[in-house]
Amino acid sequence: MTELSDKYQNFISGIPDNVCLVAVSKTKPEEDIMTLYNKGHRSFGENKVQDLTRKAENLPKDIKWHMIGHLQTNKVKYIAPFVHMIHGLDSLKLARLIDNEAGKNNRIINCLLQIHIAEEQSKFGLSEDGLNELLMNPEFKSFKNIRIKGLMGMASFTEDLNQVRVEFRKLKTIFDDLKSGIFIENEYFSDLSMGMSDDFRIAMEEGATIIRIGSLIFGERNYSN
Ligand SMILES: *Cc1c(COP(=O)(O)O)cnc(C)c1O
Repeated sequence: MTELSDKYQNFISGIPDNVCLVAVSKTKPEEDIMTLYNKGHRSFGENKVQDLTRKAENLPKDIKWHMIGHLQTNKVKYIAPFVHMIHGLDSLKLARLIDNEAGKNNRIINCLLQIHIAEEQSKFGLSEDGLNELLMNPEFKSFKNIRIKGLMGMASFTEDLNQVRVEFRKLKTIFDDLKSGIFIENEYFSDLSMGMSDDFRIAMEEGATIIRIGSLIFGERNYSN
């Protein structure tokens, strides 16, 4: 057994069955993905459209590809034919594009609404007001080729684990409010994507159903090569 295969096995054995592990393979070679694939793993995440499309083309077709990074509207068309889930839906404009491209491919694309929960400033992710505005928007409500599966969020980049917990808890509260409110009749609204290598345990304790883990399984990323 290779080292990666052992790492994966150790990791996955500690994850409960009701939590979906998205193995974040960004910057990693296709052979690493195949190592996990051969152990039966099928859910992988990438954050760049170009890498995602290349890997999807070269690798087995039953892989469930998660687009986890910021998605530019002009690139939606490249992933619409095959992507399993888009984690970063955070604007009406992006939703319009996804709905349109999904329709062209006769698909309904799973999406998570990305909520900004961290303290750091970021261009990405909806505020709570932005979220409510989007959900009330008549055009947004009319989209037939988008399936809102739940919420996604990233905690602050901090050593203060209590703050991380507070942020995840806040996202879970927003999720619960929507689930018992506007999405009460929607059986699909069931996913909460939160938690990465450094904070996934806290995220699971706070109700994550999807965790996105890269470096803990694949090792540190080296962006220079
Ligand atoms: C890179 C990335 C991850 C995985 O990060 P690790 O710390 O390596 O586990 C998770 N989510 C998003 C959105 C990412 O960009």
